[in-house]
Amino acid sequence: MQNTDVTSDKDTLPTGRISRANGLAGDVYEAIFQQLMSLKIAPGSRITVDNLVKDFNVSHTPIREALGRLEGEGLVVKTHLIGYRAAPQITRRRFDELYELRLLLEPAAAAKATAALDETGLAVLQEAAGVMARREGRDERLRYSNFARQDAIFHDRIMQFAHNDLIRETLNHQHTHFHIFRLMYHSRVTEEALDEHEAILSAFAAGDPDAAEKAMRVHIENSRDRLLPAFE
Ligand SMILES: [Zn+2]
Repeated sequence: MQNTDVTSDKDTLPTGRISRANGLAGDVYEAIFQQLMSLKIAPGSRITVDNLVKDFNVSHTPIREALGRLEGEGLVVKTHLIGYRAAPQITRRRFDELYELRLLLEPAAAAKATAALDETGLAVLQEAAGVMARREGRDERLRYSNFARQDAIFHDRIMQFAHNDLIRETLNHQHTHFHIFRLMYHSRVTEEALDEHEAILSAFAAGDPDAAEKAMRVHIENSRDRLLPAFE
């Protein structure tokens, strides 16, 4: 087989940047994601590639790659000739629509998932919930943005066990968790959610679909009520 490796010496980056070359785009993505979720980059504000290049001391390429990925996740908006902006805060109307959608789909899906959950499935969900509960590091903003992502994964896993791809895709497509967690940066948002997740897991463990439906409904209603003050 012919050697198709096109890497040559002249492409090698300066020393010091090589070691992190593989994870660089990922690191830059994580850093910008965290700033967006913790509102350090305010919703609707301009995001200048040149400023990020200076802040992170990297080239344009990983910045553009990260912004492209964030655009796909609905956190960044790109406008022709203007450039990048942090996605605006969701409106009160969209917030109500999102929660109405979640309340229609997720409690019923949780009930349905109960029957499909064997010990392995339950362990998957418990692990996802456990990651959120861990207090790693002292950086509360980092913890908050990680929680948002983990919460999205936890809810998505439950939808996976409910075996309806259309429901799962519909919810994923809204990037619900990124939008709602960006409404407010507050520890109460995460602490109370953990207890509610426990209640959902208990219902799954007991194999009780009615309890799972109810626990999911309570969790989503409480989540809505916790975040509503963001519109006052
Ligand atoms: Zn949750």
